[in-house]
Amino acid sequence: MLSGGMPTPAALATDRVNRLRERLAADDLDAAVLARPENVRYVSGFAGSAGLAVVTGDRAVLVVDFRYAEQAAAQAPAFERVQATGPLVEAAAEVLRRLGARRAGVEAEFLPIGTFRKLAAAAAPVAVEPVEGLDRIRWIKAPEEIEAIRRAQRVAEAAFQDVLPGIRPGAVEREVAVALEERLRRRGARASSFEIIVASGPRAALPHGVASERVIGPGECVTIDFGAVVDGYFSDCTRTLVTAPVSDRHREVYAVVRAAQEAALAGLRPGLTGREADALARDVIARAGYGEAFGHSLGHGIGLAVHEGPTLSPREEAVLAPGAVVTVEPGVYLPGWGGVRIEDMVVLTQDGCENLTALPKDLIEVSA
Ligand code: ZN
Ligand code: ZN
Repeated sequence: MLSGGMPTPAALATDRVNRLRERLAADDLDAAVLARPENVRYVSGFAGSAGLAVVTGDRAVLVVDFRYAEQAAAQAPAFERVQATGPLVEAAAEVLRRLGARRAGVEAEFLPIGTFRKLAAAAAPVAVEPVEGLDRIRWIKAPEEIEAIRRAQRVAEAAFQDVLPGIRPGAVEREVAVALEERLRRRGARASSFEIIVASGPRAALPHGVASERVIGPGECVTIDFGAVVDGYFSDCTRTLVTAPVSDRHREVYAVVRAAQEAALAGLRPGLTGREADALARDVIARAGYGEAFGHSLGHGIGLAVHEGPTLSPREEAVLAPGAVVTVEPGVYLPGWGGVRIEDMVVLTQDGCENLTALPKDLIEVSA
């Protein structure tokens, strides 16, 4: 059956499984056991919360228990299925042995040590090795993944517009967050991408100030960081409002952060390292005299997880490639005063980047 030129789930799974195999071969591994739900979903299509993907040179097997047997058959047609009657790791170990694997990699950053030990003991004589950076197979997004991220961002933007009139002096941060989360769900999000940040006044100097019981006052920055999960894909966006009366300092700090973000959006392109991309914005902030006040990375990859690679940071030497989706989120945080962050999501194109965020970012001045 034709499906309008879109790759079928089985074809996607095969292409992604092959990318995983290439990655394994580079480490002299002939198998992998994936446990991280985003990775399992990425290679197989299975979106349940418990399942292990066992991939060898010529086989791909999804190990689930009774609860997920039906879902696995529907979502992972390209994978053979094994229904475990005991612990999933024991069933996965049995699959490794049965398929004659020699050396199997597992996600070093994800698998709990206890689970790793159980798997390694049950899989002997197959060697089980922690491997760094298996998530990297998800860095380059396919067109349908980019569309899912775009849909998530549209939902988040609509929800933000819904609650914007209520973000004003006298409002409680937590009430704003609750209202925004409710609107995200009503607009179609499966969940909020993370605990919503609403940070006002001096709290806006906290880059991750989750909403508190604080009442928003006059003449304050209010940083709102939010996102939606749609079809498994995450969005991430920050806007900073200023409550009247807006001071010259508010305008200055806002203008510096905005100029830094615009410099990054204009300069971001494939071929730069994450460090070079970070510097596009960091240099603007440093030249304005606020270098010490931008204490985090410029951005992170986003997709089936809210934080993934590649990162735009002074420590990232990985080279950016077309199809990577990253956030661009410079900020200036001044203890005791407040802070400004502006965050968009972009996709790297052949010669630059396309902004997936449509929400305006002129300084919004709100009065009571
Ligand atoms: Zn964010
Ligand atoms: Zn972010």
